[in-house]
Amino acid sequence: MTIQNALREGHNLLFYAEVDTPVLDAVVLLGEALDISKEKLFASLPEVIDGDSYQQYRDMLKLRCSGIPVSYIRNKKEFFGLEFYVDGRVLVPRPDTETLVEALLGFIEKNPGPLNIHDTCTGSGCVAISVKSRNPDLDISASDISREAGEVFAINSKALLGYQLPCYRSDLLQQVPGSFDLISANPPYLLESEVDNLSKIGWPEPELALRGGIAGTALAERLIIDSAFRLKAGGAIFLEGAAGQMERLKAHLRASGYSEIKVFKDLGGRDRVVSARWRRCA
Ligand code: GLN
Repeated sequence: MTIQNALREGHNLLFYAEVDTPVLDAVVLLGEALDISKEKLFASLPEVIDGDSYQQYRDMLKLRCSGIPVSYIRNKKEFFGLEFYVDGRVLVPRPDTETLVEALLGFIEKNPGPLNIHDTCTGSGCVAISVKSRNPDLDISASDISREAGEVFAINSKALLGYQLPCYRSDLLQQVPGSFDLISANPPYLLESEVDNLSKIGWPEPELALRGGIAGTALAERLIIDSAFRLKAGGAIFLEGAAGQMERLKAHLRASGYSEIKVFKDLGGRDRVVSARWRRCA
C-alpha cells in the first residue's frame, strides 16, 4: 500500500462517517502515524507505508470515525504557535481563543510595568501559558474548578515553560488569593440546549468546560461581579464569549461599574472577546 492509497482510504472512511473535514483529518492522522510533517507526507506519496504505521493509522481512523476529535487522538493541539498536550480532561483549545490572547497581549503592551494576571477557567492553560511565553517576566497565575484540568495544565506548564505556573483549584476566584491588574477567562459559554445536543451525540469534551447556563453567560456574569472586588483600580477584565452574548455582557459590565468596554473580533469576523476596565484612576 502506498502512502497515497492510504490517504485515499482514510479520506473515504472519514467521508462516509460524515466527519466534517475528511481530507484534512486523514492527512493529519497519517502524518501522525508516520511521524512526519504534512510537507514530508506530500513529498512521499508514491512510497510504500510500513505495516506498523498503517495499523496505527487504521486505529486512529477508527477512533475518528467514532467521533473522537483529532486533537484527542494525537494528544496535542497547536495554539498560538505552541503545541499543547490535550486529552479528555480538558476542552481542546480553539483558534477563536487566540483572540483573547492577542487582546491580553495588546493591553500588556500598552500598559508596561509589572502587571499581575490571573486566568481563570484555564483548562489546558492555553491562554495563561501563551501570554507567559511572550512575557516571561509577568506575574501570571491560573485556576480551574476541575482537578483534572489542573493536571493537564501542569503537563503543559512544565513542557512549554519549563516550570510550574501557579494554578489553583477554584470555582472562579473563590480559592484564589490576591488582587490583580488583569483577569482573563474563556469560561464555559455554550447554551444549555447546545450542550444537551452535544451530549446526545456523545461529544467527548468535558461538559463542565462548555455549559454556560441558559443564556451561556452564567459564569461570565458571576466573574464580572467577583472581579470587581479583585481587580486593582485601573485593572481590566477580558472575557471570551459567543458573538450573540456580547450585548448582554457589555450591559452587565456597564451596570457593574466597569468602563472603557471594548469588543474584539475573531478571525471569522465575529465578536469574540469583551474587555473593560475597573474604575480607572485619573
Ligand atoms: N468556543 C467553544 C465552542 O464553540 C466553546 C468554548 C467555551 O464554552 N468556552 O465549542
